[in-house]
Amino acid sequence: MSDIYDLAVIGGGIMGSAAACRAAAGGMRVIVIEQQTIGSGASGVNAGTLSLQIKRVKLMPYAVKGHELWEHAGAHVGFHKTGGITLAFNQREADLLHERMALKREAGAPIELISPARVAELEPNLSRKVVAASWSAEDGYANASLTGAYYRARMETAGVAIREHTPVTAIDSNGGSFELATSAGPIRATRLLLACGAWLKSAAAMIGLDLPVRARVNTVSVTERGPPLVGTVIGHATGLLTLKQKPNGSVLIGGGWQGTGSPEQGRGCVDPETLLPNLRLAMFAVPGLDRFRVVRSWTGFEANVPDFYPLAGAAPGIENAFLLGCVRGGYTIGPYIGALMGDLILGREPELPLFDPGRFANPAAAAA
Ligand SMILES: Cc1cc2nc3c(=O)[nH]c(=O)nc-3n(C[C@H](O)[C@H](O)[C@H](O)COP(=O)(O)OP(=O)(O)OC[C@H]3O[C@@H](n4cnc5c(N)ncnc54)[C@H](O)[C@@H]3O)c2cc1C
Repeated sequence: MSDIYDLAVIGGGIMGSAAACRAAAGGMRVIVIEQQTIGSGASGVNAGTLSLQIKRVKLMPYAVKGHELWEHAGAHVGFHKTGGITLAFNQREADLLHERMALKREAGAPIELISPARVAELEPNLSRKVVAASWSAEDGYANASLTGAYYRARMETAGVAIREHTPVTAIDSNGGSFELATSAGPIRATRLLLACGAWLKSAAAMIGLDLPVRARVNTVSVTERGPPLVGTVIGHATGLLTLKQKPNGSVLIGGGWQGTGSPEQGRGCVDPETLLPNLRLAMFAVPGLDRFRVVRSWTGFEANVPDFYPLAGAAPGIENAFLLGCVRGGYTIGPYIGALMGDLILGREPELPLFDPGRFANPAAAAA
């Protein structure tokens, strides 16, 4: 293989694909290498919730920008701006809601507190046990299963080379360029971006970095189609519920309840011990859901590091290597932070600051 790319991106999720598009738009020759298919990781199996009400305060400006990008993608990703309501059913939850939403408002999120009577006006089929609630007109959802098709088309238009079903198994970083070992033969590039989602720890180990990346095993369920119950995105003060009814009548239920398994084992499993409380909370919030049958529940891996902020920046101690991942609420934020990463790789100043992975990486391991 004689081609040397300006940038090799390992991982064709939202993060890697968005960064690849930006780098290619900036004139780089880019290749994305994906072990399965584009958008088949967390980016394609998530709940698709775009809610400013469940984003961390420090990430709010990134989430606002992410919403704008998904809105711009529109029908290509099944975008719907429905508004969203977060519910509290007792005083403890109400206190939590007030405290969290006040901080998010300070950070620029258009969120207001609304009365239980207003909740009943907006969503007559919600539980009458609501004691407090918040509302954001900016909230909504998109269809995560369209992520792969959307980004594949964008990358093709931008001239990004794509290799699917091609796991990268080793990286040699000698001689001012990177040589990636893959099942389709070696791939060479002068710059490297690891955007491997929940597999970031093992990928970083290939360049000698020891990162404290862990994986959560989030569960999502979908019901059969039914009559209209809710029109907005419904959340809970604890963050343990996200719920929306799609135009076809099916209801998608998430909330970060944990399944079992690990990225190294290949796929996760739904755990009935956590699935049932997730569904009970959904039925408590929307009593009419008891007439809907769940047709499928699944899991996906979401990466994080101990401070729950992104890893996004230069790989410490390794020239021309970059890391991107561990973004909480990364479906919402991914398109934007990926583009910022592309700017950094192009040598441009990103519009908002990134999140230096050097705060976690073990430089001794990198030098080894
Ligand atoms: C079930 C679930 C529900 C979620 N719900 C929401 C939500 O409602 N709203 C929200 O904002 N966020 C949500 N998230 C979070 C969001 O989905 C993730 O933060 C985001 O998709 C991560 O994108 P990524 O590109 O970093 O990772 P991924 O999409 O996982 O992409 C990483 C890619 O790297 C590939 N890869 C890894 N190692 C290699 C290798 N060695 N060689 C080649 N390829 C490799 C993988 O196959 C994978 O496709 C949810 C996550 C999960 C799991």
